[in-house]
Amino acid sequence: MKNSKNQFIDVIIIGAGISGIGAACHMRRNCPNKSFLILEGRANLGGTWDLFKYPGVRSDSDMYTFAYKFKPWTNKDTISDGKNILKYLNETTLEFDLEKKIKYNHWINEINWSSTKNEWKVSGFDNHNKKPIHFQCKFLMSCTGYYDYSNGYTPNFNGLKNYKGNFIHPQKWNDDVDYSNKNVVVIGSGATAITLIPSLSKKANHVTMLQRSPTYLMNLPKKDKFLNFLFRLIPSKFAHFISRWKYIIRQIYFYKISKLRPKEVKSFIKKEIKQFLPKNFDIETHFNPKYNPWDERICVVVDNDLFNSISEEKCTVVTDQIKCFKENSILLESGKELKADLVISATGLNLKFMGGIKIKIDNKTIDTSKLVSYKGMMLQNIPNATIVFGYTNASWTLKIDLVCEYFCRIINYMDKHKLNSFVTEINDKNVETEPSIELNSGYVKRASKILPKQGKKYPWKLNQNYIKDMISLKFKKIEDGYINFK
Ligand SMILES: Cc1cc2nc3c(=O)[nH]c(=O)nc-3n(C[C@H](O)[C@H](O)[C@H](O)COP(=O)(O)OP(=O)(O)OC[C@H]3O[C@@H](n4cnc5c(N)ncnc54)[C@H](O)[C@@H]3O)c2cc1C
Repeated sequence: MKNSKNQFIDVIIIGAGISGIGAACHMRRNCPNKSFLILEGRANLGGTWDLFKYPGVRSDSDMYTFAYKFKPWTNKDTISDGKNILKYLNETTLEFDLEKKIKYNHWINEINWSSTKNEWKVSGFDNHNKKPIHFQCKFLMSCTGYYDYSNGYTPNFNGLKNYKGNFIHPQKWNDDVDYSNKNVVVIGSGATAITLIPSLSKKANHVTMLQRSPTYLMNLPKKDKFLNFLFRLIPSKFAHFISRWKYIIRQIYFYKISKLRPKEVKSFIKKEIKQFLPKNFDIETHFNPKYNPWDERICVVVDNDLFNSISEEKCTVVTDQIKCFKENSILLESGKELKADLVISATGLNLKFMGGIKIKIDNKTIDTSKLVSYKGMMLQNIPNATIVFGYTNASWTLKIDLVCEYFCRIINYMDKHKLNSFVTEINDKNVETEPSIELNSGYVKRASKILPKQGKKYPWKLNQNYIKDMISLKFKKIEDGYINFK
């Protein structure tokens, strides 16, 4: 169905990152008769894996669980660089004939549900043709990721304007950034810093990792020899299945044991990394966080790369606070001064819910921070839509596959029963709520005011557990008393 001004489509997917491409594949596989479009704000697909260009950019998840369930990861690297992830996404797009379904440069800023028409109006701006855009659809899948694409997070550093060297946030990295033979300071201790430093160390004169507080680090091999052998032995579909379950079980076990026995896990992690570091390295100061494992995401070191940079004296770790920036250096609270030709502020992302899209129901703006999420995939009172959001304690994509499959199940169920809309509603007014992301990381705390909440019990509680979610989303009945159809 079409009209001259607005285009009507059964399902609109917003965003062409790993989630949006995955959602489109599930539409092809499970709802082949439905029309769909992907509206992507940028000029390329890939989202995160197209945006970040800093040296060494890679996954910190194993690729068997970060890849889709339905498309085997056949590359030999278990931990993959960004380029190969993007290649995998491009291959998927080709395989599922999605290129013609993606409308690039279509930045969406508002969605408005009409209760009389039972449809969404999706509005935005076509940055290429410089004109407003409008679409109408029955179902929406928001696959916008979780952070602000325009800028990363940089704290208000004292005296930064006095600094004469090059200062950059990794989100803005480009090929013009020259670090050869330079003294580089990387501020931060998260996944980005841990990834960047070994790569920079190869060409820089020296790299200093300047952290306010330590993070948990775990070493993983880049290649899994046993699984690579398995891929040669049996069809890749089966090898992928086995590889996924190996890493799913490992992750669930490690997360659970970290929560149950944090002290033991803490000392295990310390003992593990000690063997790769120089004898005189001060682990207690630099790699012994005050919080418990998995209170924040654990960072992955690959093939000891960071520890090798430290052992080869190409990288020094400094745990201190910044007092101020000077013309050519950073002065620390301890009085120590770090000379720097280049400073990289690996200080994190700015969280942004649903790509900043305003949600309206019958022209009335909804404050999403007051809403509770249902099964970690829909919002209370928001009809015919899913917010596709992955795990924070495991591979993002594991949850994406489950959510998209479930949403297709709902679409097919509604078709079968000739229904027009659904909405999830809290009937019990006493559902207690809590923050939806159970991590104490800075970027999560900064965003607590804009994110929806979760309830303390099913189905309002986020499981953060693939097996529990699989049972809930794959096998349980759709009609559960909380989702209402019309
Ligand atoms: C450097 C880095 C490494 C990471 N490594 C891992 C990892 O190993 N494992 C893991 O599980 N997670 C990892 N993550 C988290 C990662 O972002 C997710 O796992 C995953 O890539 C997110 O995919 P996505 O498609 O949901 O979002 P994104 O990749 O952010 O893609 C969202 C897309 O939506 C588009 N979009 C957003 N808003 C709008 C709008 N209003 N209108 C139109 N289009 C819009 C964007 O342009 C983008 O293309 C990493 C993150 C970073 C930054």
